[in-house]
Amino acid sequence: MMPFPVILSAPSGAGKTTIARLLLERRPDLGYSVSCTTRPRRPGEEDGRDYHFLSREAFEAERDAGAFAEWAEVHGRFYGTLRREVERVLASGRHCLMDIDVQGARQFAAAFPDTVLVFVLPPSGEALLQRLAGRGSEDTERLLLRLRNAKAELADVARYHYVVVNDELERAVERVGSIIDAEAVRHARIHALDEQVAALIGQLERQINGIQPGG
Ligand code: ADP
Ligand code: 5GP
Repeated sequence: MMPFPVILSAPSGAGKTTIARLLLERRPDLGYSVSCTTRPRRPGEEDGRDYHFLSREAFEAERDAGAFAEWAEVHGRFYGTLRREVERVLASGRHCLMDIDVQGARQFAAAFPDTVLVFVLPPSGEALLQRLAGRGSEDTERLLLRLRNAKAELADVARYHYVVVNDELERAVERVGSIIDAEAVRHARIHALDEQVAALIGQLERQINGIQPGG
């Protein structure tokens, strides 16, 4: 199997982190690239598991050292994907699942063209607001910023290969899982396909030669 990068993008609150977490729990063929961010840690988040939480200075030092495969300013904070995280996951033979905003997804896919791009949509504007407010992670000002930014992020949906509406969580998780399964058997991703088919033809020839006509 040839492992590949998978990016989930969505307006904040649509549920991409929840979908990614469930997929990672259930599928040993997936690994997660832990991003860096300058935003503060939320209650329940763990440094090194959810993000590498960095000061602005530390983030800029990583950026200037060329450590990021992509980085972007999102909702007034910096976020970036470490090349070494992506390499670590792919080298372990697992597909590399990432939660990246629309700007970062564009940069990353330009550098890694075999990336699968999945956009997660909320079922409605009302549901998005309810989920974002229900998460309780933002004050009103930051919540409004995320909702305003959602409009611009939605305009990028046409760049994505797949679109999954996160209406019912289990269904959305299943759909993203199906996308990964289908991508894994894409013609171009199958390792040494020509050799495999040539071997199969050889086996068939031996079978055919072993059959006696009229026997
Ligand atoms: P994102 O990572 O896209 O910002 P989260 O995964 O943090 O979004 O989800 C935002 C909130 O919505 C969380 O409180 C999560 O539990 C909830 N949520 C996620 N998916 C669903 C769903 N299908 N139905 C209802 N609530 C959901
Ligand atoms: P949150 O602060 O809610 O965890 O994430 C806010 C936004 O930052 C989301 O759109 C999320 O996809 C994006 N994000 C998370 N990690 C990265 C990353 O490594 N790079 C980029 N460009 N965006 C990221």
